[in-house]
Amino acid sequence: MTRNTTGLGARLQAVLCDIRAAELKFDRPPGSVELLAVSKTHPVEAIRELAARGQRAFGESYLQETLPKMAALADLPLVWHFIGPIQSNKTRAIAEHFDWVHSVDRMRVAERLSLQRPPALPPLNLCLQVNIDAEPTKAGVAPEALWALAQAVVCLPRLRLRGLMVIPTPGPEPAAQRAPFRRLRVLYDACLARGFTLDTLSMGMTADMEAAIAEGATIVRIGTALFGPRGGQSDRIIASSMTTESTPHAGE
Ligand SMILES: *Cc1c(COP(=O)(O)O)cnc(C)c1O
Repeated sequence: MTRNTTGLGARLQAVLCDIRAAELKFDRPPGSVELLAVSKTHPVEAIRELAARGQRAFGESYLQETLPKMAALADLPLVWHFIGPIQSNKTRAIAEHFDWVHSVDRMRVAERLSLQRPPALPPLNLCLQVNIDAEPTKAGVAPEALWALAQAVVCLPRLRLRGLMVIPTPGPEPAAQRAPFRRLRVLYDACLARGFTLDTLSMGMTADMEAAIAEGATIVRIGTALFGPRGGQSDRIIASSMTTESTPHAGE
């Protein structure tokens, strides 16, 4: 089966150009914003295609899906970022296979990641996910609980606290989009003022990338603008071929 990766190279170029343009527009140093290619639900061929064009950092949210993809791409020097919700029983696989985790929001998960990080690997890079709008149903540590969590996490030997991550409720227009990113930036600056040595603000997705760069993002997590929409026909074929041994009606 051939999969359609046509246009991926052009979309990568376009996203990189948009990042550079936003850096210029908002007086950010050139190269200060890194592209994390969010490849969840997308096939190894697409990742390979982007890797061949120089993209190194890839973000994934679902362990079951990611581990086989990592194995298939083990010949490439990729940097893997876990950005999805973390259940305690999944920490070992995350600690063993990823270079970064963006979505830690409680001490129990941080402790397990530190304990389970293999000694042969460097410390696991970590961002704390902040529930910046303090919405009861959303993941992330509450802003007022951030200090205590950060203080405890920096004492864990096998983790390296790099910064903060946010997934705000999407706002329609740029001004509204910037507000939650600015609040995360204020928290980040307060962390620096308290002596935490951080260098990462993980914020901005396809719909709000420019607003995030305007407010200081150092990593933007981009899926749709690179790979196209998730949940398309090719994604369903791949998802079903991962979960079943045979595909009885495979007409493709
Ligand atoms: C899926 C996902 C993204 C990418 O979103 P797009 O809108 O497709 O760019 C970014 N961050 C997180 C945490 C995600 O789960």
